[in-house]
Amino acid sequence: MTDTQKIALVTGASRGIGAEIARGLAADGVAVAVNYASSPEAAEAVVRQIEAAGGRAVALKADLSDAEAPAALFEAAEAELGPVDILVNNAGTMRLGPIASLDEAALADQLALNLAAPLRLMREAAARLADGGRILSLSSSVVGLYQPGYGVYAATKAGLEAVTNVLAKELAPRGITVNAVAPGPVATDFFLKGKSDALVAQIAAMNPFKRLGTPEDIAGVIRLLARDEAGWISGQVIRANGGVV
Ligand code: NAP
Repeated sequence: MTDTQKIALVTGASRGIGAEIARGLAADGVAVAVNYASSPEAAEAVVRQIEAAGGRAVALKADLSDAEAPAALFEAAEAELGPVDILVNNAGTMRLGPIASLDEAALADQLALNLAAPLRLMREAAARLADGGRILSLSSSVVGLYQPGYGVYAATKAGLEAVTNVLAKELAPRGITVNAVAPGPVATDFFLKGKSDALVAQIAAMNPFKRLGTPEDIAGVIRLLARDEAGWISGQVIRANGGVV
């Protein structure tokens, strides 16, 4: 560890895109707090991979649907690693269905994890990050595609994009950048769960590259935005989707 080593808190980093973001930031020399909710073994495996590559990481359990969890998670990350420089709001959930049959539990779950939790984490980050920090959030290219069935999920991500732009203006005087990355479909459990091979192939063919995104595709954009050299990019939503929208 060096005195100048940056520290990141990545939510939902036990699996999928978040795990790749954690490994990628660690490869860039950042110490990483690997948050998880229900997969301790997976989170510990990410930590071991980072350590085996010479990096520094810790796994931290927090169910971010709980209103008290974001502040406690920041406290834990700071206690384990030191002051956080980079927040990545990655944890998210998706429950599809037409608005005509809007399900109360699905509405509450998606609002809690996709919108309220990032807002609370942003409140903590705004108070705690040193000048020059980075706040990054995972949106989705369904904001722009507006496909049937994605109403609640798209609403939470559109809200997250709006907050990103507001916070970018609030924190600019301190040199803190605030951006979102909006993936198209990425081959993780999140996207693949419950879909037939035929439907996956049909969705993969929607973009001009004719393939699904990979966690590496998305982590690469987060890594770019987290760099010191990206300090002039703020209040932006980068759609990483192979050109589908
Ligand atoms: P994923 O594979 O389902 O992984 C979700 C991660 O979030 C896991 O590490 C999980 O940890 C964590 N998590 C779930 N509930 C949590 C909670 N209540 N508190 C804290 N952590 C929780 O998802 P993904 O595909 O990597 O998606 C990551 C982000 O990208 C999400 O915000 C999603 O909306 C966005 N995105 C994904 C796609 C896609 O096609 N995959 C496309 C556009 C946007 P545990 O296992 O410990 O529960």
